[in-house]
Amino acid sequence: MKIFDRYTHLLEWIQSKGHKPRVLGYAPDGAMIVCVKSGGEKEPAIFISAGSHSTEQAGVTTAVQLLDQLETEHQVYVIPSRDPMGMNGFGYALSLSLGEEPSLDSLEDAHAILRERGEVLYEEGSTLLVIIGEYGYSTRGLYGRLPKGASFLKPLLGRRIFFPSHANGIEGTAPCQRAYTLIVSPEGEVLHINRFHDTPWAPVEVRCTRRLMAEIRPGLTLDLHEYGGDAFWFSARHQRNDGDEKWEGRMADEMIQAVAHSGAQLVAETYLPGSFFTKGERGVFWLNPQERGEGLNLADFAAREYGPSFTIETGMRSRFQQRVSTSLLAAQTAVKVFEERYKGDTN
Ligand SMILES: [Zn+2]
Repeated sequence: MKIFDRYTHLLEWIQSKGHKPRVLGYAPDGAMIVCVKSGGEKEPAIFISAGSHSTEQAGVTTAVQLLDQLETEHQVYVIPSRDPMGMNGFGYALSLSLGEEPSLDSLEDAHAILRERGEVLYEEGSTLLVIIGEYGYSTRGLYGRLPKGASFLKPLLGRRIFFPSHANGIEGTAPCQRAYTLIVSPEGEVLHINRFHDTPWAPVEVRCTRRLMAEIRPGLTLDLHEYGGDAFWFSARHQRNDGDEKWEGRMADEMIQAVAHSGAQLVAETYLPGSFFTKGERGVFWLNPQERGEGLNLADFAAREYGPSFTIETGMRSRFQQRVSTSLLAAQTAVKVFEERYKGDTN
Protein backbone atom coordinates (compact mmCIF):
# COMPACT_ATOMS: atom_id res chain seq x y z
CA MET A 1 0.00 0.00 0.00
CA LYS A 2 1.87 3.07 -1.22
CA ILE A 3 1.53 6.45 0.40
CA PHE A 4 3.15 8.94 -1.94
CA ASP A 5 5.01 11.66 -0.14
CA ARG A 6 5.84 13.56 -3.31
CA TYR A 7 4.25 13.79 -6.71
CA THR A 8 7.49 12.74 -8.41
CA HIS A 9 7.36 9.48 -6.43
CA LEU A 10 3.90 8.84 -7.79
CA LEU A 11 5.08 9.44 -11.35
CA GLU A 12 8.10 7.17 -10.86
CA TRP A 13 5.91 4.45 -9.38
CA ILE A 14 3.46 4.58 -12.29
CA GLN A 15 6.30 4.39 -14.79
CA SER A 16 7.93 1.52 -12.90
CA LYS A 17 4.68 -0.41 -13.44
CA GLY A 18 5.04 0.04 -17.19
CA HIS A 19 2.46 2.79 -17.61
CA LYS A 20 3.10 5.72 -19.86
CA PRO A 21 1.70 8.94 -18.45
CA ARG A 22 0.47 11.43 -20.99
CA VAL A 23 1.07 15.10 -20.21
CA LEU A 24 -2.10 17.16 -20.21
CA GLY A 25 -0.45 20.38 -19.10
CA TYR A 26 1.75 21.85 -16.42
CA ALA A 27 0.95 23.09 -12.95
CA PRO A 28 2.27 26.56 -12.04
CA ASP A 29 5.45 24.99 -10.59
CA GLY A 30 6.09 23.16 -13.88
CA ALA A 31 4.90 19.76 -12.65
CA MET A 32 3.38 17.61 -15.36
CA ILE A 33 -0.33 17.11 -14.95
CA VAL A 34 -0.83 13.62 -16.35
CA CYS A 35 -3.39 11.07 -17.22
CA VAL A 36 -2.69 7.39 -17.62
CA LYS A 37 -4.66 5.10 -19.89
CA SER A 38 -5.42 1.52 -18.95
CA GLY A 39 -8.22 -0.98 -19.52
CA GLY A 40 -9.20 -2.04 -23.02
CA GLU A 41 -10.40 -0.20 -26.11
CA LYS A 42 -14.15 -0.37 -25.70
CA GLU A 43 -16.18 2.83 -25.52
CA PRO A 44 -17.56 4.70 -23.76
CA ALA A 45 -14.53 5.39 -21.63
CA ILE A 46 -14.32 5.40 -17.86
CA PHE A 47 -12.72 8.42 -16.21
CA ILE A 48 -11.23 8.24 -12.73
CA SER A 49 -9.58 11.08 -10.90
CA ALA A 50 -8.32 11.83 -7.40
CA GLY A 51 -6.36 14.26 -5.33
CA SER A 52 -8.06 17.56 -6.13
CA HIS A 53 -7.91 17.98 -2.36
CA SER A 54 -4.35 17.03 -1.53
CA THR A 55 -5.18 15.99 2.02
CA GLU A 56 -7.26 13.07 0.70
CA GLN A 57 -4.44 10.71 -0.21
CA ALA A 58 -6.24 7.36 -0.03
CA GLY A 59 -8.04 8.46 -3.18
CA VAL A 60 -4.71 9.08 -4.91
CA THR A 61 -3.35 5.67 -3.93
CA THR A 62 -6.61 4.05 -5.02
CA ALA A 63 -6.48 5.75 -8.41
CA VAL A 64 -2.94 4.45 -8.91
CA GLN A 65 -3.94 0.93 -7.86
CA LEU A 66 -6.93 0.94 -10.19
CA LEU A 67 -4.53 1.26 -13.12
CA ASP A 68 -3.49 -2.33 -12.46
CA GLN A 69 -6.50 -3.74 -10.64
CA LEU A 70 -9.45 -2.60 -12.70
CA GLU A 71 -10.36 -5.37 -15.10
CA THR A 72 -12.49 -4.03 -17.90
CA GLU A 73 -12.67 -4.02 -21.67
CA HIS A 74 -13.54 -0.33 -21.55
CA GLN A 75 -10.98 2.40 -21.95
CA VAL A 76 -9.92 3.76 -18.57
CA TYR A 77 -8.36 7.19 -18.15
CA VAL A 78 -6.93 8.06 -14.76
CA ILE A 79 -5.73 11.42 -13.47
CA PRO A 80 -4.18 10.17 -10.24
CA SER A 81 -3.48 13.55 -8.68
CA ARG A 82 -5.33 16.69 -9.66
CA ASP A 83 -3.19 18.83 -7.35
CA PRO A 84 0.46 17.87 -7.87
CA MET A 85 1.73 20.96 -6.04
CA GLY A 86 -0.43 20.50 -2.97
CA MET A 87 0.47 16.88 -2.47
CA ASN A 88 4.14 17.85 -2.03
CA GLY A 89 3.34 19.58 1.24
CA PHE A 90 3.27 22.98 2.83
CA GLY A 91 7.06 23.33 2.99
CA TYR A 92 7.21 22.67 -0.73
CA ALA A 93 4.44 25.20 -1.40
CA LEU A 94 6.42 27.77 0.56
CA SER A 95 9.58 26.94 -1.38
CA LEU A 96 7.89 28.26 -4.53
CA SER A 97 8.02 31.73 -3.02
CA LEU A 98 11.01 31.46 -0.68
CA GLY A 99 13.44 29.81 -3.09
CA GLU A 100 14.20 27.03 -0.66
CA GLU A 101 12.14 24.59 1.31
CA PRO A 102 11.89 25.47 5.00
CA SER A 103 11.89 22.61 7.45
CA LEU A 104 8.57 22.60 9.25
CA ASP A 105 8.24 20.58 12.42
CA SER A 106 4.91 21.95 13.46
CA LEU A 107 2.04 24.25 12.59
CA GLU A 108 3.68 26.82 14.87
CA ASP A 109 6.75 26.76 12.62
CA ALA A 110 4.50 27.40 9.63
CA HIS A 111 2.79 30.27 11.40
CA ALA A 112 6.14 31.82 12.32
CA ILE A 113 7.42 31.67 8.73
CA LEU A 114 4.29 33.31 7.35
CA ARG A 115 4.63 36.06 9.94
CA GLU A 116 8.30 36.59 9.22
CA ARG A 117 8.34 36.36 5.43
CA GLY A 118 4.88 37.39 4.31
CA GLU A 119 2.93 40.57 3.78
CA VAL A 120 -0.10 40.21 6.04
CA LEU A 121 -3.43 40.55 4.25
CA TYR A 122 -5.76 39.34 6.96
CA GLU A 123 -5.54 38.22 10.53
CA GLU A 124 -8.18 37.03 12.91
CA GLY A 125 -7.42 34.98 16.01
CA SER A 126 -4.96 32.28 15.01
CA THR A 127 -5.80 32.70 11.31
CA LEU A 128 -3.14 34.51 9.35
CA LEU A 129 -3.28 35.12 5.59
CA VAL A 130 -0.20 36.50 3.86
CA ILE A 131 1.15 36.93 0.35
CA ILE A 132 4.68 35.86 -0.50
CA GLY A 133 5.84 35.93 -4.09
CA GLU A 134 3.03 34.85 -6.40
CA TYR A 135 1.02 32.94 -3.81
CA GLY A 136 -1.11 33.38 -0.76
CA TYR A 137 -0.45 31.30 2.33
CA SER A 138 -2.66 30.89 5.33
CA THR A 139 -2.39 29.09 8.62
CA ARG A 140 -5.76 27.41 8.20
CA GLY A 141 -8.58 26.75 5.78
CA LEU A 142 -10.47 29.79 4.53
CA TYR A 143 -12.99 28.01 2.31
CA GLY A 144 -16.47 29.14 3.28
CA ARG A 145 -15.09 31.59 5.83
CA LEU A 146 -14.56 34.79 3.90
CA PRO A 147 -17.07 37.10 2.26
CA LYS A 148 -16.87 36.97 -1.52
CA GLY A 149 -14.92 39.91 -2.87
CA ALA A 150 -13.44 40.94 0.49
CA SER A 151 -11.11 43.86 -0.22
CA PHE A 152 -8.09 42.25 1.45
CA LEU A 153 -8.27 39.48 -1.18
CA LYS A 154 -7.46 41.92 -4.01
CA PRO A 155 -3.76 40.99 -4.19
CA LEU A 156 -4.80 37.34 -4.59
CA LEU A 157 -7.47 37.59 -7.27
CA GLY A 158 -6.99 34.74 -9.74
CA ARG A 159 -4.24 33.27 -7.59
CA ARG A 160 -4.06 30.49 -5.06
CA ILE A 161 -3.72 30.19 -1.32
CA PHE A 162 -2.03 27.25 0.35
CA PHE A 163 -2.67 26.17 3.90
CA PRO A 164 -1.08 23.26 5.78
CA SER A 165 -2.79 20.00 6.59
CA HIS A 166 -3.36 20.28 10.31
CA ALA A 167 -5.19 17.27 11.80
CA ASN A 168 -3.31 14.76 13.89
CA GLY A 169 -3.65 11.03 13.46
CA ILE A 170 -4.47 10.96 9.73
CA GLU A 171 -2.38 8.32 8.00
CA GLY A 172 -0.86 9.81 4.84
CA THR A 173 -1.59 13.40 5.82
CA ALA A 174 0.29 14.53 8.91
CA PRO A 175 0.33 18.21 9.88
CA CYS A 176 2.13 20.18 7.11
CA GLN A 177 2.62 17.00 5.05
CA ARG A 178 0.18 18.36 2.46
CA ALA A 179 -0.70 21.84 1.27
CA TYR A 180 -4.40 22.26 0.63
CA THR A 181 -4.88 24.50 -2.38
CA LEU A 182 -7.53 27.18 -2.37
CA ILE A 183 -8.30 29.03 -5.56
CA VAL A 184 -9.32 32.68 -5.45
CA SER A 185 -11.60 33.42 -8.38
CA PRO A 186 -11.19 36.67 -10.32
CA GLU A 187 -14.29 37.85 -8.43
CA GLY A 188 -12.72 37.12 -5.06
CA GLU A 189 -14.54 33.92 -4.15
CA VAL A 190 -12.32 31.49 -2.27
CA LEU A 191 -12.94 28.00 -3.64
CA HIS A 192 -10.72 25.00 -4.40
CA ILE A 193 -9.59 22.76 -7.28
CA ASN A 194 -12.83 20.76 -7.35
CA ARG A 195 -14.79 23.75 -8.63
CA PHE A 196 -14.58 25.85 -11.84
CA HIS A 197 -15.49 22.99 -14.15
CA ASP A 198 -18.18 25.09 -15.83
CA THR A 199 -16.55 28.53 -15.79
CA PRO A 200 -14.44 30.15 -18.52
CA TRP A 201 -11.85 31.15 -15.94
CA ALA A 202 -10.43 28.08 -14.22
CA PRO A 203 -7.10 27.01 -12.74
CA VAL A 204 -4.88 25.02 -15.09
CA GLU A 205 -5.50 21.72 -13.29
CA VAL A 206 -9.21 22.03 -14.01
CA ARG A 207 -8.68 23.08 -17.62
CA CYS A 208 -6.56 19.95 -18.13
CA THR A 209 -9.31 17.78 -16.66
CA ARG A 210 -12.12 19.18 -18.73
CA ARG A 211 -10.13 19.07 -21.94
CA LEU A 212 -9.48 15.40 -21.39
CA MET A 213 -13.16 14.83 -20.66
CA ALA A 214 -14.16 16.60 -23.85
CA GLU A 215 -11.87 14.27 -25.75
CA ILE A 216 -12.88 10.97 -24.17
CA ARG A 217 -16.55 11.76 -23.34
CA PRO A 218 -16.65 9.43 -20.33
CA GLY A 219 -19.68 7.20 -19.84
CA LEU A 220 -18.74 6.87 -16.17
CA THR A 221 -16.81 9.33 -14.01
CA LEU A 222 -15.50 8.54 -10.55
CA ASP A 223 -13.83 11.22 -8.47
CA LEU A 224 -12.10 9.80 -5.39
CA HIS A 225 -12.22 11.92 -2.26
CA GLU A 226 -12.11 11.62 1.51
CA TYR A 227 -13.86 13.38 4.33
CA GLY A 228 -12.90 14.05 7.92
CA GLY A 229 -14.83 11.20 9.53
CA ASP A 230 -14.19 7.48 9.87
CA ALA A 231 -16.89 5.89 7.69
CA PHE A 232 -17.92 5.73 4.04
CA TRP A 233 -20.38 7.52 1.80
CA PHE A 234 -20.64 8.75 -1.76
CA SER A 235 -22.60 11.27 -3.73
CA ALA A 236 -24.59 10.52 -6.86
CA ARG A 237 -25.95 12.99 -9.44
CA HIS A 238 -29.27 13.27 -11.18
CA GLN A 239 -28.78 12.74 -14.89
CA ARG A 240 -29.75 14.36 -18.17
CA ASN A 241 -31.97 11.53 -19.36
CA ASP A 242 -33.88 8.51 -18.08
CA GLY A 243 -31.35 5.96 -19.31
CA ASP A 244 -28.46 7.58 -17.49
CA GLU A 245 -30.62 8.18 -14.42
CA LYS A 246 -31.58 4.52 -14.24
CA TRP A 247 -27.98 3.35 -14.43
CA GLU A 248 -26.79 5.96 -11.95
CA GLY A 249 -29.34 4.50 -9.52
CA ARG A 250 -28.29 0.91 -10.22
CA MET A 251 -24.63 1.69 -9.73
CA ALA A 252 -25.43 3.57 -6.51
CA ASP A 253 -27.40 0.60 -5.14
CA GLU A 254 -24.74 -1.95 -5.95
CA MET A 255 -21.87 0.19 -4.73
CA ILE A 256 -23.37 0.78 -1.32
CA GLN A 257 -24.41 -2.87 -0.98
CA ALA A 258 -20.94 -4.08 -1.87
CA VAL A 259 -19.31 -1.74 0.63
CA ALA A 260 -21.80 -2.65 3.37
CA HIS A 261 -21.18 -6.37 2.71
CA SER A 262 -17.44 -5.90 2.96
CA GLY A 263 -17.88 -4.94 6.59
CA ALA A 264 -16.70 -1.37 6.03
CA GLN A 265 -18.54 1.15 8.13
CA LEU A 266 -21.14 3.35 6.45
CA VAL A 267 -21.93 6.80 7.81
CA ALA A 268 -24.66 6.93 10.46
CA GLU A 269 -28.31 7.08 9.40
CA THR A 270 -28.46 10.62 10.72
CA TYR A 271 -25.41 11.86 8.80
CA LEU A 272 -25.91 14.54 6.17
CA PRO A 273 -22.80 15.94 4.46
CA GLY A 274 -24.47 19.28 3.68
CA SER A 275 -27.82 20.98 3.22
CA PHE A 276 -27.60 20.60 -0.56
CA PHE A 277 -27.75 16.80 -0.50
CA THR A 278 -30.83 14.58 -0.65
CA LYS A 279 -30.55 11.31 1.21
CA GLY A 280 -30.84 8.02 -0.62
CA GLU A 281 -30.04 4.70 1.04
CA ARG A 282 -27.77 4.92 4.03
CA GLY A 283 -24.41 6.22 2.76
CA VAL A 284 -25.83 7.47 -0.56
CA PHE A 285 -26.44 11.18 -1.06
CA TRP A 286 -27.71 12.94 -4.15
CA LEU A 287 -25.92 16.23 -4.64
CA ASN A 288 -27.86 19.24 -5.90
CA PRO A 289 -25.26 21.67 -7.24
CA GLN A 290 -27.77 24.46 -7.85
CA GLU A 291 -28.59 24.53 -4.15
CA ARG A 292 -24.94 24.49 -3.19
CA GLY A 293 -23.84 27.27 -5.53
CA GLU A 294 -20.13 27.71 -6.36
CA GLY A 295 -20.56 26.26 -9.85
CA LEU A 296 -19.95 22.65 -10.78
CA ASN A 297 -17.45 20.21 -9.37
CA LEU A 298 -16.03 17.44 -11.53
CA ALA A 299 -18.82 14.93 -10.90
CA ASP A 300 -21.54 17.61 -11.30
CA PHE A 301 -19.98 18.63 -14.58
CA ALA A 302 -19.67 15.03 -15.78
CA ALA A 303 -23.37 14.45 -15.01
CA ARG A 304 -24.36 17.56 -16.94
CA GLU A 305 -22.20 16.85 -19.97
CA TYR A 306 -21.46 13.14 -20.21
CA GLY A 307 -23.40 10.77 -17.94
CA PRO A 308 -23.23 8.83 -14.69
CA SER A 309 -20.77 10.11 -12.13
CA PHE A 310 -19.97 9.74 -8.45
CA THR A 311 -17.82 11.36 -5.80
CA ILE A 312 -16.55 8.62 -3.50
CA GLU A 313 -15.72 9.59 0.09
CA THR A 314 -13.72 7.43 2.48
CA GLY A 315 -13.11 8.39 6.10
CA MET A 316 -9.66 9.83 6.77
CA ARG A 317 -9.89 8.76 10.39
CA SER A 318 -9.71 5.09 9.56
CA ARG A 319 -6.64 3.11 8.55
CA PHE A 320 -5.14 4.01 5.19
CA GLN A 321 -5.34 0.44 3.95
CA GLN A 322 -9.02 0.24 4.87
CA ARG A 323 -9.72 3.53 3.09
CA VAL A 324 -8.01 2.33 -0.07
CA SER A 325 -9.67 -1.07 -0.11
CA THR A 326 -13.12 0.49 0.37
CA SER A 327 -12.54 3.06 -2.34
CA LEU A 328 -11.27 0.31 -4.66
CA LEU A 329 -14.33 -1.82 -3.97
CA ALA A 330 -16.74 1.04 -4.66
CA ALA A 331 -14.99 1.89 -7.93
CA GLN A 332 -14.77 -1.74 -9.07
CA THR A 333 -18.45 -2.25 -8.32
CA ALA A 334 -19.49 0.83 -10.28
CA VAL A 335 -17.42 -0.39 -13.22
CA LYS A 336 -18.94 -3.88 -13.06
CA VAL A 337 -22.46 -2.42 -13.35
CA PHE A 338 -21.30 -0.01 -16.05
CA GLU A 339 -20.06 -2.98 -18.07
CA GLU A 340 -23.47 -4.63 -17.83
CA ARG A 341 -25.00 -1.57 -19.42
CA TYR A 342 -22.84 -1.95 -22.52
CA LYS A 343 -22.76 -5.75 -22.64
CA GLY A 344 -23.23 -6.89 -26.21
CA ASP A 345 -22.15 -3.53 -27.65
CA THR A 346 -19.19 -3.69 -29.94
CA ASN A 347 -17.21 -0.87 -31.40
ZN1 LIG B 1 -12.42 16.14 -1.34
